[in-house]
Amino acid sequence: MSLPETTEVLIVGAGPTGLACALTLYKEGCRDITIVDAVEHGQNSSRALAIHAATLEVLDSIGCARSLIEAGATHRTMKVWNIGDDHGATLADFGPLKSSTRYPFVLIIPQTITERVLGDHVQSIGIQVLRPFKVVGVQSDKHDKNHTSVFFEGGQTVKARYVIGCDGAKSAIRQAAGVDFKDPLEERSTTDHNLDQIVLGDVTYTKPLPRLFDDPLFMLSPTNLFLSVPFPYNEGDANRTYRVVCGVPPSSGPPPSQPGKAFLQDLVDNSGMNTVSSKVHGPSNVTINEVIWSSRFRTHSSIADTFFKRLEGDQGGAVIFIGDAAHIHPPAGGQGMNLGLRDAISLGPILAARLRSSSSDDSPLRSWADRRRQQGVTIIHLTKTILGLASVQNGGIVWMWNTVPLPILRSTVRSWSLWILAKSTWLQSQVAWRLSGLGNK
Ligand SMILES: Cc1cc2nc3c(=O)[nH]c(=O)nc-3n(C[C@H](O)[C@H](O)[C@H](O)COP(=O)(O)OP(=O)(O)OC[C@H]3O[C@@H](n4cnc5c(N)ncnc54)[C@H](O)[C@@H]3O)c2cc1C
Repeated sequence: MSLPETTEVLIVGAGPTGLACALTLYKEGCRDITIVDAVEHGQNSSRALAIHAATLEVLDSIGCARSLIEAGATHRTMKVWNIGDDHGATLADFGPLKSSTRYPFVLIIPQTITERVLGDHVQSIGIQVLRPFKVVGVQSDKHDKNHTSVFFEGGQTVKARYVIGCDGAKSAIRQAAGVDFKDPLEERSTTDHNLDQIVLGDVTYTKPLPRLFDDPLFMLSPTNLFLSVPFPYNEGDANRTYRVVCGVPPSSGPPPSQPGKAFLQDLVDNSGMNTVSSKVHGPSNVTINEVIWSSRFRTHSSIADTFFKRLEGDQGGAVIFIGDAAHIHPPAGGQGMNLGLRDAISLGPILAARLRSSSSDDSPLRSWADRRRQQGVTIIHLTKTILGLASVQNGGIVWMWNTVPLPILRSTVRSWSLWILAKSTWLQSQVAWRLSGLGNK
């Protein structure tokens, strides 16, 4: 299909955020919506795995929660294992959230399936994602100052009243609009620690894992953090897939861009599965059978200076940024895609009301943008805190109390904290509450 010459709303990017945005605008009565994506087919990597309660609440409002839950697997708890102990503990218990949500669990579902479900819903309302159309620039329309001209790689131009940048972390829309993208908490930067660089892989093993691995499980060793998350499993599947995530200390140098079997097996042996399995069952020598997908990234955070901008001061075409185009942060707690989906679904009613109204007052959109930005900063804060607690600082063999150094290993402090957590169901529900997003919708 070809691009239209004009549209009321142009959504750039058909990742989870762009698809949810199209659905919510449609639900609010908008019909002149165009959604484009640079690539011929959707992404095929699993990436974000967790959908939390606050996101399911809003996904329900656009009719998608039930199909996502049916396609994924729900988990009431997340577990943690301090290597050296002989039993694990509950880190987060989502069960007690039932007084605040219909979804007292974390939903584990690979991003590919999330995108497929959202994409099916978009198709069912008659909206077609136009591909491959790559945006290369935007500017205020020369003839109609309240519209934006959007330029495409193939030479086409589309004129839109509102342009929504859902085009990911390197957003061409954000860059063309001249909006800064930087870490709002630079002073809390988590530099030079063992979780600065992280590898992740979706793997199968040569034999079934102990039951303990049926829930998401964090394994803490004195020098690292290893996370194992089981993929949804259907009767009859040959092998269960697990996501493994592990820090790579800076002293080991940069990890490969697509870590292979031997690299991941080394992490499983030294920081993950085998250290726990051997404690429970004696030497088990679980080996990786197949690496289905793997990647690496450096943990850093950035947020757009504003999520709403008119291209010429208070006038000119209007551009909006949501999802990774507006904020990125470490994957701790599985928050990124959740935040993007909630940006998209919260924008729908505000933008739809603006499109219906004859007023030129941007203040509802500006306050929406301020609110969402503040929520983004809160999540960046949360993910940095989680990483700080889970990490072991290089050379950080003493723990600081205010500015006074105490001769206590940071990993010992971490073990004490876990011991307290394991005894307190209240703390476990507090961890679940923070991760669920229910206090920061
Ligand atoms: C390697 C990796 C691992 C990750 N792991 C996790 C994880 O474990 N947990 C977690 O919560 N999150 C994870 N994330 C983050 C998560 O994937 C993102 O938060 C989520 O994809 C954001 O969705 P989005 O729709 O905003 O952007 P994206 O998913 O990035 O989608 C952007 C879309 O815009 C399109 N596009 C880009 N530029 C243009 C252009 N110029 N013109 C037109 N279209 C364009 C792209 O083709 C793409 O389809 C990971 C990300 C990566 C890269």
